[in-house]
Amino acid sequence: MIQLTNRLQQFLAKKNHHHFIDGSYTNAESEQQITVINPATEAAIGKVALGTKESVNQAVAAAKKAFNYNSDWRKMSPDDRGKILYRLAEKITEHAESLAQLVTLENGKLIKDARSSDAGGAAKTFRYYAGWATKIEGETLDISQPQKGGRQNFAFTRREPVGVVAAIVPWNFPISIAAWKIAPALAAGCTVVLKPSEETPLSALLLAELAMEAGMPPGVFNVITGDGRTTGASLTTHPDVKKITFTGSTYTGKIIGKAAMDNITDISLELGGKSPAIVFNDADDLAFAAQGVAAGIFRNQGQVCVAGSRVYIQKKVFDKVLTDISHAAQKMKISHGFDETAQLGPLVSKGHLQKVRGYIHTGMEEGATLVSGGVVNPKDKGFYLAPTIFSAPDNDQQIITEEIFGPVLVAVPFEDMEDALRLANDSHLGLAATVWTKDISKAMSMINRLEAGVIYVNSPVRSDPGLPLGGYKQSGIGRELGKVGVYSYTTLKSVNIVY
Ligand code: NAD
Repeated sequence: MIQLTNRLQQFLAKKNHHHFIDGSYTNAESEQQITVINPATEAAIGKVALGTKESVNQAVAAAKKAFNYNSDWRKMSPDDRGKILYRLAEKITEHAESLAQLVTLENGKLIKDARSSDAGGAAKTFRYYAGWATKIEGETLDISQPQKGGRQNFAFTRREPVGVVAAIVPWNFPISIAAWKIAPALAAGCTVVLKPSEETPLSALLLAELAMEAGMPPGVFNVITGDGRTTGASLTTHPDVKKITFTGSTYTGKIIGKAAMDNITDISLELGGKSPAIVFNDADDLAFAAQGVAAGIFRNQGQVCVAGSRVYIQKKVFDKVLTDISHAAQKMKISHGFDETAQLGPLVSKGHLQKVRGYIHTGMEEGATLVSGGVVNPKDKGFYLAPTIFSAPDNDQQIITEEIFGPVLVAVPFEDMEDALRLANDSHLGLAATVWTKDISKAMSMINRLEAGVIYVNSPVRSDPGLPLGGYKQSGIGRELGKVGVYSYTTLKSVNIVY
């Protein structure tokens, strides 16, 4: 068992955690509380405040004040802004173990994933965007307006920070997804109110502490804890919020999208996925492809937006590849996240476990063939589920049309490339896809015709701060990460000087 760091022990000793607003913890004693549960043990690890409308107003007011034209933040040079983001990346690295352990405690995920994807991922994102603070550009434009008396035009655009940003994030990668929003928003010069998921709110508070230690001026980055219905809704409908950046389910995304339109608030939505993995007969190494497909669905207990949860395998190699995937699944060691040898941890919550089990029941009722796994919890305590694989003849079952967001894979055979494209594109979602082939012409045809925002060839999908992420169809609106990510927190001003 891993020894918790001193910093984390001190953090957890507080037991009741409050919002982080204007550079310090607030006094939210009068608010209701949400108990945060460790999914591996089902024990409580702390309580956070359920933010009311008043608390949300306070957080937005702090962010608005910090965005005021004469504030330290607005007057700060891009270079100095970048330095603060870089220092925060270093703080995250210095306290990576505390952050990773906290993420494992509240989310259940494996400590190695919390170290690499959450703490490591967040540090990498802040480092990447630290460099962007000094690289935000407008354009000069050769316009054709006639001017009197031989006068000329000097037209240009400038990019300005959009203002107060409301960032709402899910529980599957609590601080790395938060970093995907906070880092570009701050690099662009915005201020932020972050609402983490009610399942995993603690790591966001620790991140806010580190931001202060990195020299972030008060009010620039605030954290409000709470649920979606009260806290999240108060934030997304606040008139002083100028941009909403949301990652979560398509269901919630639609609610938030409608709310945003009431105030005509800028919005980006990173939503659900049901991403296909397509394995051709000529995949370079079929065993490698099978391993990649298994890693693509079972990492983080399948709670990954870009998880390849439908695998289409060309008929000739269907049995072999499916057998290899199911062997890989059956060999996975299921244990709590602090077991360094574990390969699959618990799901995030009891409610989510029930939801995923419900889909497995539906799959069996609808006649899909259960290849491995099932609904039985392999442990006495904690929210565990064995990696589960179904096979089905076509796309007409609920388990293959709806996002399950758990360790559940459905395999379907296909004839040829046209058939693979028909099956893969037959979805209301379009977040990601993977293609497994050594034929570059086939891979390029698939890349051109797949309806997905992110495509990987011969690898499971992974994220990188430099590679934009976002969805086609109901998987979202807008892109985050990369250059487009930082520009999405700016608004364009067009200017013409007549001289
Ligand atoms: P969710 O939609 O239930 O909740 C996400 C966040 O929204 C939480 O913080 C929640 O409190 C808040 N929320 C809920 N209702 C709200 C409302 N009415 N107003 C404002 N905020 C509200 O999603 P989840 O279960 O936390 O996360 C899983 C989902 O996230 C999956 O669908 C997954 O695909 C998606 N996801 C997408 C990406 C991506 O990049 N596209 C990345 C990770 C996760």
